[in-house]
Amino acid sequence: MDDLRLLVGDLRRQLERHVRAGAWAARAGSPTRAAGPEVAVPVTEPSVDTPRRTLAQIRDELGECQRCKLHATRTKLVFGNGAEDAALMFVGEAPGADEDRIGDPFVGKAGELLDKMIEAMGWTRPTVYVANILKSRPPGNRNPQPDEVAACIPFLWAQIDAIRPRIIVALGRPAANGLLGRDAPISALRGRFHDARGYKVLPTFHPAYLLREPERKRDVWTDLKLVIVELDRLGIRSPHPPKT
Ligand code: SF4
Repeated sequence: MDDLRLLVGDLRRQLERHVRAGAWAARAGSPTRAAGPEVAVPVTEPSVDTPRRTLAQIRDELGECQRCKLHATRTKLVFGNGAEDAALMFVGEAPGADEDRIGDPFVGKAGELLDKMIEAMGWTRPTVYVANILKSRPPGNRNPQPDEVAACIPFLWAQIDAIRPRIIVALGRPAANGLLGRDAPISALRGRFHDARGYKVLPTFHPAYLLREPERKRDVWTDLKLVIVELDRLGIRSPHPPKT
């Protein structure tokens, strides 16, 4: 029995070392395989032993990250920004050219549209939190690849666990599938809440898609109104009245 206790203690310490190193994505037996070539293959289950870290600790842990091949082509790592205790969080797929140059998420035209969406909900960029599945830009804005998602998404989950948002809005297919561990079109996921590790996730279209297909803005507003109603039901008030 003493040997067994020693073995369990040893395994626990090994796991804690992996967690501190940010390398706990491959939890045995739990990955959800995705069928498509561009689809994320994240592990969405938390480790019960994962300590909650602050955003500053998570950023320190990332450092000048070289955990996947994207480090070789990025200009700036895009960690995420916003309120550290945000009730509402927005997650996209990856930095684009502007984000890569500046180091902040959702800048440029898609970022301006996201700001309008957030403001229509009665919030502002500094009162929510915005991040991506990947923190380095894929070359040519291609979709995230499974190995990149597997390397990077533990840090997003650590951010989510630090912030503990009441609702996460997943912007676009890669973000929604990455958070939910699914492989489904955004049209099949949007418009309702999903559970991801105990967090409420509402998928909707990405602002960059809305720039190309502006007629889908109506659908996004329908989705965002669900968020407004749910936040109200949870007793969370936005700083400004939403445009309902
Ligand atoms: S995408 Fe994520 S895992 Fe890959 S190099 Fe950038 S920060 Fe590291």
